[in-house]
Amino acid sequence: MAGRNFLFVPGPTNIPDRIMRSMMVAMEDHRSSRFPDVSRSLFPDLMKVFGAGEGQAFIFPSTGTGAWEAALTNTLSPGDRVLAPRFGQFSHLWIDMMQRLGLEVEILECEWGDGAPESRIAEALQADSQHRIRGVMIVHNETATGVTSDLAAVRRAIDSAKHPALLYADAVSSLGSIEFRMSEWRVDLAVAGSQKGLMLPAGLGIVCASPKALEAHSRAKCRRVFFDFGDMQRTNGDGYFPYTPSLPLLYGLRESLNMLFAEGLENVFARHRRLGAGVREAVAAWGLEICARHPRWYSDTVTAVLVPPNVNSAHVVDVAFRRYNLALGAGLSKVAGKVFRIGHLGDLNELMLLGALAGAEMSLADVGVKLELGSGVGAAQHYWRRTDTVPKKKVARSEVTYAGHSTGSISG
Ligand code: PLP
Repeated sequence: MAGRNFLFVPGPTNIPDRIMRSMMVAMEDHRSSRFPDVSRSLFPDLMKVFGAGEGQAFIFPSTGTGAWEAALTNTLSPGDRVLAPRFGQFSHLWIDMMQRLGLEVEILECEWGDGAPESRIAEALQADSQHRIRGVMIVHNETATGVTSDLAAVRRAIDSAKHPALLYADAVSSLGSIEFRMSEWRVDLAVAGSQKGLMLPAGLGIVCASPKALEAHSRAKCRRVFFDFGDMQRTNGDGYFPYTPSLPLLYGLRESLNMLFAEGLENVFARHRRLGAGVREAVAAWGLEICARHPRWYSDTVTAVLVPPNVNSAHVVDVAFRRYNLALGAGLSKVAGKVFRIGHLGDLNELMLLGALAGAEMSLADVGVKLELGSGVGAAQHYWRRTDTVPKKKVARSEVTYAGHSTGSISG
């Protein structure tokens, strides 16, 4: 199909040209004396993105799933009890991994569309007078339902129960897009992948561990080899890895971090907040609802749109892809057929999103959803114009310059 594919799944996200170019590198010796020049800066800079003032960041050649496994196996032992709310496909898959690793999981079943239930977490921890629960496992941004949990409130719940459990957070679809404050919220293990807010291809599994998590590592008996923190610690300090790292991805990560810092993390968060709110305005104008059941759970990186009961959302996704070259996220597992997802994270601006909203709108109309073409696009346009972050200044025509020349004397 002519023209660009519009990639609006909630990861992988668009890779900026700058990052693409930075990854076009010849292979080199990853044991050379020059290599640490590249790698060493990545660890402290990643910690800044996590909002972590202390502890350690780890970079594994894997994906978010590998980072899940690294966080669990490095800090827990078979038979350990953990507490995990389940409110979407990714919290479900993480729980499945915990069980397969031999952990005893106390599951808090929640409606898909809600986030982590802080008061139930506090109750469960209060009831655990023997302090058998070792970890509280939260998917910060549930990508399947477009729900962001309140990690600060989860931390308060743990503190209110005076419970020593570690706080684990899946930041796969929040890191580098939605505010994440590891030190402030005292998150002990945070996991991420490269293909979302970091704007890279999939291929890096990233973990940030607090000092308390590093302490737990010395006692943890879960089997681990490839994902062992200890092997990483022995080599990372000098800027090396225990096995062959993916050089293009490391160069790409350097560029990604440069871009995030150049924009400023707070500005990155504000941009995602504003873009997410505009998407929700569009959905409301279509007369549709979203899966997140309360404004407190609204995600600024992904919106899961509920389609009318007579429509299969997989059909919307397929029409968007085949007819308009637009990739939307499908509904997963329990919400398959019921929702489609618009990813709005990473290297993104208003006009890119308007293209996606226009395509989603046409696809919805094509499958028979009754809506007015242009309604969602218009609502988002109005919202983004109203909340424009560029200061508006009335400019006299004679002041307008084109390539440095006053256009005052140019007609047309
Ligand atoms: N956790 C969340 C919240 C995700 O969205 C994903 C993937 O989309 C994962 C974990 C798994 O990550 P990966 O597919 O990189 O293994």
